[in-house]
Amino acid sequence: MGASMIGLVKEHRGYGATLKEVPVPTCGDDEVLVRVQATSICGTDLHIYKWDAWAERTVITPNVFGHEFAGTVVEVGARAAGVRVGDYVSAEGHMVCGTCKACRTGNAHVCPNTKSFGITAPGCFAEYAIVKASNIIHNDANLPSEIACLQDPLGNAVQTVLSGDIVGKTVAIIGVGPIGLLAIKVAKACGAGAIYAVDINPNRLQMARQMGADSTIHALETRTSEALRALTGGEGVDVVLEMSGNPQAIVDGFAAAANAGRVSLLGIPTQEVSLDITNQIIFKGLKVEGITGRKMYQTWYQMKGLLNQHRLDLASVITHKFKLDQYEEAFQLMNEGQCGKIVFIH
Ligand code: ZN
Repeated sequence: MGASMIGLVKEHRGYGATLKEVPVPTCGDDEVLVRVQATSICGTDLHIYKWDAWAERTVITPNVFGHEFAGTVVEVGARAAGVRVGDYVSAEGHMVCGTCKACRTGNAHVCPNTKSFGITAPGCFAEYAIVKASNIIHNDANLPSEIACLQDPLGNAVQTVLSGDIVGKTVAIIGVGPIGLLAIKVAKACGAGAIYAVDINPNRLQMARQMGADSTIHALETRTSEALRALTGGEGVDVVLEMSGNPQAIVDGFAAAANAGRVSLLGIPTQEVSLDITNQIIFKGLKVEGITGRKMYQTWYQMKGLLNQHRLDLASVITHKFKLDQYEEAFQLMNEGQCGKIVFIH
């Protein structure tokens, strides 16, 4: 292309970001160039924007960040198989090596050589983005771009909900930020029993009820584990989906889990968590699973099935739509937690 475009750039290794003119990236042989139509803000983007210890350790600068998108392919590299100009696409953001033990045993989502779109590689908060052809996901033509761009976090929710049995099970979702809200939708669509949402933000608990949670628990007003035991006739919940990363919430989640239940951990604590493993895992016979990214590409096909059959109404998860030049207001809202999913219409 050789021209320039407007992109949201993480320029300095500190607070904030800069909207500026940057070159349109060059499409490599195994890559495609996408005209971006819609993007959404991830919690990870907020970490990058605010710049914390994780960002300092991980993120490259200067770089166009953002990794949740939908758009149209405008150029394909010479060896970019399976993708054509005009295709309506999103993408898996984890670019993996394909040759390590994890990749070769169907576990590419935990490839130790992963490069991440918009974090350790150029991303999508711009007019155009470069994507590895093998990571491209073809979207259904009827799926609006503002919904299609949510597939990255939706995939986190789908993998967490479906990492074990869900049909008819009692489910506690601890932490109902955007991914927790999506998890409520997924759990309902997949036939869960009663769904309990736990958070400390009244606004998000109200959203959780709107998404279909059967009961909500304010974790600062009630002991979460006791409330969940009371709601389940003293048995505890079959499935705990931990999405807060808060150490106390994690401990409460294990305490609320029923014997032979499941705890799936997506939220990322930033410090060590002290847990009574003997009584809260071993003698309960719990299944505990760490969730990272999306299974490549099982999760994407599960999402495609749910989305194409309209099993998930995701429009209500989007609370704000902005143009890219309103990024300061958007990140402010994210920081205050007074929102569901925020989408940029490009
Ligand atoms: Zn690998």
